[in-house]
Amino acid sequence: MTENRADEGLMPYASLEANTRGRRYTEPGPGYRGEYERDRDRIVHCTAFRRLVYKTQVFVNHEGDLYRTRLTHSLEVAQIGRSVSRRLRLNEPLAEAICLAHDLGHTPFGHAGQEALNGCMRDYGGFEHNFQSLRVVDELEERYAEFPGLNLTYECREGILKHCSARNAALLGDLGQRFIERKQPSLEAQIANVADEIAYNNHDVDDGLRAGLVTIDELLTVPLCARHHAVVIKKYPDISERRLTHEMIRRMINELVTDLIVSTQARLDAAKPRTADDIREASGPMVGFSDERAAEHQALKRFLMEHVYRHFRVLRMTRKASRIVRDLFAAYFEDVRLLPDEHSKAALAGAARDGESGKARAVADYIAGMTDRFAIVEHGRLFDPRLPVS
Ligand code: MG
Repeated sequence: MTENRADEGLMPYASLEANTRGRRYTEPGPGYRGEYERDRDRIVHCTAFRRLVYKTQVFVNHEGDLYRTRLTHSLEVAQIGRSVSRRLRLNEPLAEAICLAHDLGHTPFGHAGQEALNGCMRDYGGFEHNFQSLRVVDELEERYAEFPGLNLTYECREGILKHCSARNAALLGDLGQRFIERKQPSLEAQIANVADEIAYNNHDVDDGLRAGLVTIDELLTVPLCARHHAVVIKKYPDISERRLTHEMIRRMINELVTDLIVSTQARLDAAKPRTADDIREASGPMVGFSDERAAEHQALKRFLMEHVYRHFRVLRMTRKASRIVRDLFAAYFEDVRLLPDEHSKAALAGAARDGESGKARAVADYIAGMTDRFAIVEHGRLFDPRLPVS
């Protein structure tokens, strides 16, 4: 890049494009865009991103049109991530790109699907959704003539890989090193991480109420909700429950985001980092809430775990989802000829390269790419003798 204007106005410890560690395959500059804007645009145009619309968080896609899907979740995460990055004068396009890509590797049926697939892959290297998101952008997307995947920048890939087992970290060279050395990721990656938590904790309150899994009265046992509920009721005594819910949640998000900005800035002011590398070398993350807000946010998380994620209706669906994933895996693994041509070829190539683990990985890649509805239909085609086989 001849003149790098993308870094104008950013703090010296932001992820500056001038200091990028670049892409795995060298490419000409991105022209009118910055490098991280190009990352973001590649993510938005990829197939895995579009599939997020039919993948769920907590509720299965066909249960209702108004619940969050992974796509709307990712957009909410990106919105929060952008606001926080911009306010702290960090790299907004990078934070946005990481937020948009963070769930690309998710299986159908949310955490239930991920756990089931991890169980199926126990003897073959396991299945981690963060690692899979990286596999999607590094290997599985097929869009460019000159390289596999999306060829994203190091910084974007670093941010996507939020967690990683030591075993997988060892396979990743440079990118895995920080998990082995226990270093921190960039501030933009740290922001994406917390933005994810703010987004799902708050939208799961909304979805949980809408689904009738929790009531407003039950929510009042959570201090964060109770405090904002009281403010809204005092100001609007006759408000309808729907508006009350949204007025409460928007205040919760706003308070958490504001606290996140203020507390993070205070930590940065105290630590006085000079470069993005100082951030990576720090003993802990800089991006985070005040202790008080962190405790409240944790309490909300615990409430959701108990009342929403472990609600019997959710558990019943979770069970069904796990069974679908396990059945599909077992069927394909036993006979890869049941897979579509391109995937059975990948399974045979995997088997030739890495034996059973290679075959299992190709099967896991195929299942992880499925949407909820595709997995359900495919399960019927394979196991219900009354349905057509293809
Ligand atoms: Mg997420």
